[in-house]
Amino acid sequence: MKADEIIKSFEISDDKLTQLIAMMGHELEKGLDKATNDEAEIKMLPSYVTSTPDGTEEGDYLALDLGGTNFRVLLVKISSGNDVKIEMDNQLYPISNELMTGTGTQLFDHLVKCLWDFLVQRDMMCQLLPIGFTFSFPTKHLGIKKTILVSWTKGYTASGVVGEDIGALLNDAINRRFKIRCLNFDLKIMSTVVNDTVGTMVSCAYDHHDTCMGLIVGTGTNMCYMELQKNIGTIDDGDPNDGSEMCINTEWGAFGDNSGALDSVKTFYDEIVDSESPNKGQHVYEKMISGMYMGEIVRRIIVDLHKDKELFESIDPNSVLLSCGLSTAFVSQVLHPGFDTTQIQQYLTGFGVKANENDCNLLKRICEVVSSRAAHLCAVGVVAVAKRIAQNRGTKAPTVGVDGSVYRRHPTFKKILLSKTKQLAPDLDISFELSTDGSGRGAALVAAVESRLQHLQTK
Ligand code: BGC
Ligand code: MG
Repeated sequence: MKADEIIKSFEISDDKLTQLIAMMGHELEKGLDKATNDEAEIKMLPSYVTSTPDGTEEGDYLALDLGGTNFRVLLVKISSGNDVKIEMDNQLYPISNELMTGTGTQLFDHLVKCLWDFLVQRDMMCQLLPIGFTFSFPTKHLGIKKTILVSWTKGYTASGVVGEDIGALLNDAINRRFKIRCLNFDLKIMSTVVNDTVGTMVSCAYDHHDTCMGLIVGTGTNMCYMELQKNIGTIDDGDPNDGSEMCINTEWGAFGDNSGALDSVKTFYDEIVDSESPNKGQHVYEKMISGMYMGEIVRRIIVDLHKDKELFESIDPNSVLLSCGLSTAFVSQVLHPGFDTTQIQQYLTGFGVKANENDCNLLKRICEVVSSRAAHLCAVGVVAVAKRIAQNRGTKAPTVGVDGSVYRRHPTFKKILLSKTKQLAPDLDISFELSTDGSGRGAALVAAVESRLQHLQTK
């Protein structure tokens, strides 16, 4: 049976996973080393975030969050002292496909229009607070205030943004809209651009002080962690002995892009999904793990097996199964622990599919192997990074702040990730903590830490 072969092709042995950990470790080093960074696939981008919150942060901040499919605006009020608390008010705005793939000016004008609407509703139009901008794409920081987009991922292609300063594009767009509307607007915008992993780590560190890694498994996947500044060859190094750290945004999604590290575990389906993506050949590791691709991998397998008469008696010719991407929600539904065969059959009717009991079992098996492989590969990365931290800090029990739709909502991913991580790193005690709104609260905290540090400097 072809189905058996396919299922087998998604299984990766523990020996292989252990090999991959070593390869990933090597790629992390290449990205940190100035001599090899240019050719390194994992870019290890310095974030210029050098400190996690210490509880003395305070003030009102705006947070903007551009990630997968939505844009969010938040008002975050942080109080310190005896009454340490964070209050948040937020609103979600969908981002259409046209905006994702149009021009950068259209995209940024739209973001600022949402910001404007948010402020109008709260009667705070012309008093712009410091902004923490979560920008969930690979960016190169030239200091904390200048942030260049390296490349788009997750289906975004908006023109005129790659290579540009994200903070400046935001400021320009704010000026375009606010200048005419706020006559006395003084145009001094304080914005700090952060990757979502960094916000996730920082938000989690506020509650759990030993948090030193930030993981996202959602539409895309990525990891950040605290690295010793003396090991970061791509920044002007300070005192090699003072033990200062800086958060590195690994952009691990690109693991395997040039090194071929994943070639031996890639399947035929990974090849097609990659070749039909807008960033072909890039972010190979991400495409084997994250939510944007998991459903699509499953869909390709379904179509193939149906063609070979191994799965489903019939699929309606207009079914989305035969045309466009399938979301990870599909995989999550099929694997829903409370779902029996009848419920899966019913669910499939909505996709124009007629399925018997065997079909349902096979479909479940396919969803299982695609999901487990994603979790296993993700565990590889977690262990590779945790090993670095153990080496640097001597910490054998790091806490990982985690967020993302796959981690939160997929019925089995989290459990498999946790147990595989433990199994692959028996000498480490890695704990995972769900981060509270890293992209909102976390970004505001990064802006707040930044204000605190600047304040200290000018004192
Ligand atoms: C981006 C990362 C981001 C991750 C999770 C990836 O596609 O390159 O910057 O952290 O998605 O959102
Ligand atoms: Mg997000």
